Amino acid sequence: MARKTASGSRATVRATAQKLESLHRAGVTHLGKVPWETDTPPYPQAPPGQAPPTPAESGPRTPASDDRSSSLAAVAREVAACTRCAELARSRTQTVFGAGSPHARLAFLGEAPGSDEDRQGEPFVGRAGKLLNDIIQKGMKLRRQDVYILNILRCRPPGNRNPLPVEAANCREYLDRQLEIIRPEFICCLGAVAAQNLLDTTTPIGKLRGRFHDYKGIKVVCTYHPAYLLRNPGAKRPTWDDIQLLMAEMGI
Ligand code: URA
Repeated sequence: MARKTASGSRATVRATAQKLESLHRAGVTHLGKVPWETDTPPYPQAPPGQAPPTPAESGPRTPASDDRSSSLAAVAREVAACTRCAELARSRTQTVFGAGSPHARLAFLGEAPGSDEDRQGEPFVGRAGKLLNDIIQKGMKLRRQDVYILNILRCRPPGNRNPLPVEAANCREYLDRQLEIIRPEFICCLGAVAAQNLLDTTTPIGKLRGRFHDYKGIKVVCTYHPAYLLRNPGAKRPTWDDIQLLMAEMGI
């Protein structure tokens, strides 16, 4: 009995050491809560009766900038009728174009809609989306409606499988047109599929994160996908490091 307990605890120690080793490889240098898990207010609170300041509301609106909404709406209409990927066009409930401010300085790029997004027509509204909201609102002190959120694909792959290369290629024109209209200064790629497709590379996400890349003059930072963070809480710390790198460059 005593021997069983000793071997059991040796196994636990071994498993813990392996887990710590794998966290270390993922870039985790210390454990603990990240800011989006604390109770701090999401963004600067305004005095009673006054609206809080928002990045998107500051600065003048020019006629050219107001064209962005109608240009995006025109692309969204094309996307809604798209049948380039026959399987996806058949199985989708609706296309998921993108959401947020046409004037956003920062765009978050995910992989593809899941079942919640397919049902609601908006990116990142499921469990991963709630975590992304916390990162944006509690971590970065921004509002979801002041950034822009879009995906590599605009249709849900059946069974939430990864996008096929031909599907990503078919949807690429829409992604590029959305980015050309919004002209964000920064893109944050969420996960390997977003990062590798945007940057046309096979480099693993663990090696892409932690530094800036360039996409057509846009500063790109890559980090872990929120769905990965739900399964691997140890990756939250390096993700927060990436977000802080981004915030420093944005001056926020
Ligand atoms: N995961 C993604 O990559 N995109 C979504 O829109 C939702 C979940």
